[in-house]
Amino acid sequence: MEISSPPAPPSAPRPLADQTPVQAARSAPPSAPRAPEETDHHGEMSTAEKYGNLGAVVLPFVATIAAVVLFWNRLVSPADLAIAAVMYLLTAVGITVGFHRLLTHRSFQTSKALEYTFALLGSMSVQGPVIAWVADHRKHHAHTDEEGDPHSPHVGHDHEGGLRGMFAGLWHAHAGWLMSTQGRADWKRFAPDLYEDPGMRAIGRGFVPLVLLGLALPALAGYLIGGTLAAAATGLLWGGLVRVFFVHHVTWSVNSVCHFFGSRRFDTDDHSTNVFWLALPSLGESWHHNHHAFPRSATHGLRRREIDPSAAIINTLEKLGLAWNVVRISEERQSQRAV
Ligand SMILES: [Zn+2]
Ligand SMILES: [Zn+2]
Repeated sequence: MEISSPPAPPSAPRPLADQTPVQAARSAPPSAPRAPEETDHHGEMSTAEKYGNLGAVVLPFVATIAAVVLFWNRLVSPADLAIAAVMYLLTAVGITVGFHRLLTHRSFQTSKALEYTFALLGSMSVQGPVIAWVADHRKHHAHTDEEGDPHSPHVGHDHEGGLRGMFAGLWHAHAGWLMSTQGRADWKRFAPDLYEDPGMRAIGRGFVPLVLLGLALPALAGYLIGGTLAAAATGLLWGGLVRVFFVHHVTWSVNSVCHFFGSRRFDTDDHSTNVFWLALPSLGESWHHNHHAFPRSATHGLRRREIDPSAAIINTLEKLGLAWNVVRISEERQSQRAV
């Protein structure tokens, strides 16, 4: 399918009919006031939200240091590493293929069952409820590297200048934004298609139980393989906390590193970059400059050598009949945008 006239997703409301989700959000009027229980993600972050996010950043970090010490002392089993790898792949794909390419950008279409499956897996990555993630990310595309971008390394720290300003900007884009702008985008304006989907709202409400499930599963796998509580504990450590640490920092590197260091080749109004050394861990998301040039493209690694495992998964789903209307960018369109 060519990008020029993408069909709207069947479940999308009117504003998306002839626009990308990001265009629709940019042009939509501010939403009307709503019931109190639906406005709790607006305005300033509450202290509870800040502490929650701080805990979600610090706990996996501390656990990873503990895991490195155990690793150094060879107190790690092949089973622990295998559980961590499987959990990494499942939950990172939930973010890259699910939250990002499918739910944020509608790069392809699939069944509701698979949409919900991706939303469940992505929720276990501990990056906030699915609707908040999608709304924040569409806002990032609507205001990339300018005022209103929830996590740009180039916004809000310019006045500091020099190295200090650079590190402040990078930190804000990486994890600092989790203490200030995360989850603030208006769901009705930036993610109306998900907001009006009762299934997605239920998955969003189930965020905390899903996070706990994402920790319980590797513990259970450790117990089933090792047969001891100690094996359950190391399964939890590696497949739960260490895995969350890596998925977090790789995802956040796309927000920080991939708007600062790296190469560019398309004419875009932002600072997005392609970063080859993050391609494999980010499952193809670090071809982020290509992505900003063609946000709806299901493939971010547009060249043969640009490794993109997420695109390979989408292509496989398509071959199996589980994905359709996969958005692809012709060579001609790519050369038109090239600088
Ligand atoms: Zn970006
Ligand atoms: Zn995007």
